[in-house]
Amino acid sequence: MADFQLFIDGEYVDARSGDTFATYDPGTGTKIGDVAKAGVEDAERAIAAARKAFDEGPWPKMSGKERAGYLRKVAELIGTKAEELATMEARDSGGTIKKAMFADVPGAQGAFEWFAQCAETEPDEVELPGSDFPPSQNLVRYEPHGVCTGIIPWNFPFIMAAWKFGPALAAGNTSVIKPASFTSVTALMLGQIFQEAELPPGVANVIAGPGGTAGEVLASHPMVDKTAFTGSTEVGRRIMQLASGTVKPVTLELGGKSANIVLDDADLDIAAAAVLFGTFFHNGQVCESGTRALVQRGIYDEFVGLLVERAGKLVIGNQLDYATDLGPLVSRGQVETVERYVKLGRDEVGEPVCGGEKPKVADDLDAEAFYQPTIFAGVPNSSKIAQEEIFGPVLCVIPFDTDEEAVAIANDSIYGLGGGVQSRDLERARRVADGMRTGTVWINDYHMINPQRPFGGYKQSGIGRELGVQGFNIYRQVKHIHTNPSTSRDGYVHFSALGDI
Ligand code: NAP
Ligand code: MG
Repeated sequence: MADFQLFIDGEYVDARSGDTFATYDPGTGTKIGDVAKAGVEDAERAIAAARKAFDEGPWPKMSGKERAGYLRKVAELIGTKAEELATMEARDSGGTIKKAMFADVPGAQGAFEWFAQCAETEPDEVELPGSDFPPSQNLVRYEPHGVCTGIIPWNFPFIMAAWKFGPALAAGNTSVIKPASFTSVTALMLGQIFQEAELPPGVANVIAGPGGTAGEVLASHPMVDKTAFTGSTEVGRRIMQLASGTVKPVTLELGGKSANIVLDDADLDIAAAAVLFGTFFHNGQVCESGTRALVQRGIYDEFVGLLVERAGKLVIGNQLDYATDLGPLVSRGQVETVERYVKLGRDEVGEPVCGGEKPKVADDLDAEAFYQPTIFAGVPNSSKIAQEEIFGPVLCVIPFDTDEEAVAIANDSIYGLGGGVQSRDLERARRVADGMRTGTVWINDYHMINPQRPFGGYKQSGIGRELGVQGFNIYRQVKHIHTNPSTSRDGYVHFSALGDI
């Protein structure tokens, strides 16, 4: 029996093949346990369970208020297990315990609570203005799609599971989710929470296993009505192709290379903190990280000095220690990717102004899994390190002269996910924010994602929105019902468009 089993049809089960894969704490390199490895057959089994729960079960027929009751129970149970979940999230992903306790666990809880509220308060039916002639009564009904699948990445495994399950279930769908192979454990732990909340079997299923097999089934299977994916832009393109076979609606949350614009009237103390938080939180392994800091020429040198001084103070170490600011990256492989980009940066723009190598860490840690916060200054926006997503602790500082130039540089990217504007003049900041082609802009702040506010990307950063009312409604189909109340042929003159029938 695997240490962490698949959750299908309300029960924990091994993969049909009996196969497992190991999951590790990247900080120490120690094995956490064996995870059941779902193959095609297990993905199909989970989809069949979700299909049956949708077609024959009570879930889609319940009122929104009833479903909200279950989701609030899920949120409450997450709260009671906060420490256990946070510790496992930190161990499995390498994210710090501070992040897990202050962002991951409450973030997931908040998402379930928000979508419970949507289920309760967003109307199922809205009457539209009818017509007098030809007469009609019209209404729109909002209905669940059916079976909704979700595939999620390794950087925020627990929150991402909540972002997929929360709206899908609140809207009356049933669901199957696949977490990333590096970080499957906390999503699988949701199964026990669903059991304790007495969710009907098959409503929510979690399978772990390789994206290339189990994941592809979730995105392509004909019994699936909608699919949502968070991860790289490259795999996002593949998901669209897979979903196109049966014309499934897709929601995609993909990569980014977000610009954080520091205007010359910014409070430099707050702005420097906003840039460092925006880039180095979770080692830059955040899709909307502000990895391009655009800094106005008049304050440029002073500002870069502040960044370098403060980046040097970040504490690197064991992610389970509350004193640690930066833990390991998710894997040695991710560190290798960062090293490749830093080498490229050295070729393109020269020595970084700080970082640029692996730090010395305690003997009980895996030195190959850590990387120093690294800043390249004077970076041309056209360089590869400013255009490509690195997904590591690497900041590019780019100088600019005018606000218009800052907007143009910010928009000169295939991505459009997040962004920031730091300025004391809020009207000026708004003009800059309005010009940015991106799904979120934080003025004098960064990374503030809240379940009540929509999140998603322009351009190659994605399709659709998660969170907010928008993120709920994307999980609902729209049905228009037109009723002709006429009892005589006077109400049907339009039939004469065909002829004398
Ligand atoms: P990834 O390689 O795209 O993987 C994401 C998920 O897709 C994983 O569960 C993966 O499974 C699965 N997968 C891989 N190939 C697949 C395929 N052919 N068919 C179906 N599923 C497949 O991304 P990642 O390395 O986990 O995460 C990093 C990327 O995610 C970054 O580019 C980042 O910007 C993006 N991201 C975006 C957001 C957002 O909200 N926009 C949030 C977080 C991350 P395996 O783990 O088994 O390979
Ligand atoms: Mg792991």
